[in-house]
Amino acid sequence: MPFFKEIKNIVFMVVIFALAATLVAVSVMFALRGSKLNDKYVSMRKELESTKESLAAVENEKNTVESELENERKERQRLEQENAGLKTEIEQLRAKKAEEEAKKLNQQKPQTPPPATKVCYLTFDDGPCENTLAILNILARYNAKATFFVKGNSKCIDYVKNIKDAGHAVGLHTYTHVYEQLYASDAAYFNDLNAVSAAVEQRIGNVKLVRFPGGSSNVVSKKHCLGIMTRLTKSVPEAGYAYFDWNVDSGDAAGYNSEKIIEAVLSQASKKSGAICVLMHDIKTSTTQALPSVIEGLIQQGYYFDALSHDSYGFHHGVKN
Ligand code: ZN
Repeated sequence: MPFFKEIKNIVFMVVIFALAATLVAVSVMFALRGSKLNDKYVSMRKELESTKESLAAVENEKNTVESELENERKERQRLEQENAGLKTEIEQLRAKKAEEEAKKLNQQKPQTPPPATKVCYLTFDDGPCENTLAILNILARYNAKATFFVKGNSKCIDYVKNIKDAGHAVGLHTYTHVYEQLYASDAAYFNDLNAVSAAVEQRIGNVKLVRFPGGSSNVVSKKHCLGIMTRLTKSVPEAGYAYFDWNVDSGDAAGYNSEKIIEAVLSQASKKSGAICVLMHDIKTSTTQALPSVIEGLIQQGYYFDALSHDSYGFHHGVKN
């Protein structure tokens, strides 16, 4: 019996020992696994840290590039402003030079006053048109001669023959009347002048009277070509033409009605002591309506009517460009 008891004890001991050993082995296993996980965790954290650092570096670089770009933008803006300032300065200098040249030109050719004779040159610009025939009828009624500065691209250009046949003068105004085209350069002006000249010549022969669109004193041309009027008022006469401005403005181009046209012409004429040249436009019906009273009023003031010729007084305004 004691022998069996001894065996039982030994078995019990062995089982206990085995259990203890298993427990130790499992603990060691878990401890090892835990340490591996910890290592992995540490390395991941390190990786995360370094990723954060490189992100911060990229962010810094982005900020630097952005501030550099901003600086460049400001610098460009400053240069652009400087450039605009210089351009304006150049424009001003050019305008001043053109003005001085114009002054010099006017000083060289002092304007003689209009002839003392009370001759009236009625002038009609921008036609011919349908209205021109009505104007010719009115002029015929008073036996008054006038001058028509025509537009070459008018669809009624054939009326230049009616004008000439009625004893009036035909002058060249422009082919297109488009300022930015005809005042783009000296060559552009002469192209336009040659075109209107050819259109008239093929119908009634050569014509050498000219009226500049806007007159020789126009400043609109300044926008398109500086100093062009200073040059054209020399080169156009040198090419054999005589150009004419006016000293009485009917205001019809500004939209005056017939009463205002009559009042404008008669009041301006009454202040002149000699020859007058009246600016009108045959394309305006208000002008046609006003014409009989204009003629009668001028006759009352002692004027007689004539057509311009190459040697007539030019009524030059004086150049401003
Ligand atoms: Zn005109």
